[in-house]
Amino acid sequence: MENLSRRKFIITSVLLSASPLFAKSSSKIHIDLLKKPFEYHVKKGKLPGKRVLIIGGIHGNEIGAYKASDLLVDCDIKRGELIIIPRSNFTSILAKMRGYNGDMNRKFAHIDKKDPDRYFVELLKSAILEFRPDVVISMHDGYGFARKNPNHWGQSIVIDENIYKNFHLYEEAYSILKDANPHFAHYKLGLLNTRTFTSSRHKEQRNALTGWCLQHDIKAYCIEASKQLRLDQKIYTHLVMLREFFKRYKIELAPSIDQLIHDETLWNHHKTTTVTLKINGSIHKFSKSGTLKIPKGSNIEVVAIDGNRGSYLIGKHINLNWQSFYFSKPQQFLLKEDYKTRMRLTVYPV
Ligand SMILES: [Zn+2]
Repeated sequence: MENLSRRKFIITSVLLSASPLFAKSSSKIHIDLLKKPFEYHVKKGKLPGKRVLIIGGIHGNEIGAYKASDLLVDCDIKRGELIIIPRSNFTSILAKMRGYNGDMNRKFAHIDKKDPDRYFVELLKSAILEFRPDVVISMHDGYGFARKNPNHWGQSIVIDENIYKNFHLYEEAYSILKDANPHFAHYKLGLLNTRTFTSSRHKEQRNALTGWCLQHDIKAYCIEASKQLRLDQKIYTHLVMLREFFKRYKIELAPSIDQLIHDETLWNHHKTTTVTLKINGSIHKFSKSGTLKIPKGSNIEVVAIDGNRGSYLIGKHINLNWQSFYFSKPQQFLLKEDYKTRMRLTVYPV
């Protein structure tokens, strides 16, 4: 039951004393945000199957891709092994940008030491190398419709070569496409071969995740919904493609992937999120928007964010790569759930 008196309680006003640890003359407030999470879900079924690694969210504005991969996290697994990394580029998801720090999917062969994405790219690479799955599936929402325009990537399976080493990529992708397509009344899927290693047209793909995997003897595909579809259609597209992969790699979920495809009530598990802050050493919890008056010289630490996956507190107009900073003017903090703002806390230095 919703508590009505709490619903009216929109404005939280907190006035606290300054931290003795900070110089009284300081005109600024310092905040430590949480370290950005790198979500990593390993699921192992009791029955034997193959090992599939699913990567969503390399491009932060491809919502269908990371939302569809995130749905798998709430499923149990009966057969096979699944590792799901739904938000591999969380900074860009928060910003709803393809790449907040440039295109992460061009950084797998080489990444500069100073690149803010480096920590996450290295984590992804080590997850792939340690797990050594039977297949990596990198999920995207591409532009347009590949069947209508061969330069478009939307609604497709993308392979780097027809055959690479002993991987028969075309043969497998074609069979998946053939079995998936009857489940689309419109927006049928196409097959795209970038010829990453034998042509110079898509040389950039050698630095992409799938190209890097292949060079490390790990089979990999990209699956793409279309950016031009509604979010539910994008999620449907991804799940229908995944179902065909799961059949071939002996992955069984509970609820089943069929149930997940057809029962959209399974797509929503929305919870209230609570932000826990430590302000000058004392704990305060927030689950509604509000304002806080805090003495200059104070220290704020984000201790926890409990609720939906993909939740994180950012400073409005503050560089998303920064984990800690000072401010002296009123500063708004946004509780993001992926790209959506769920709550606003405005801090007034007094
Ligand atoms: Zn993409």
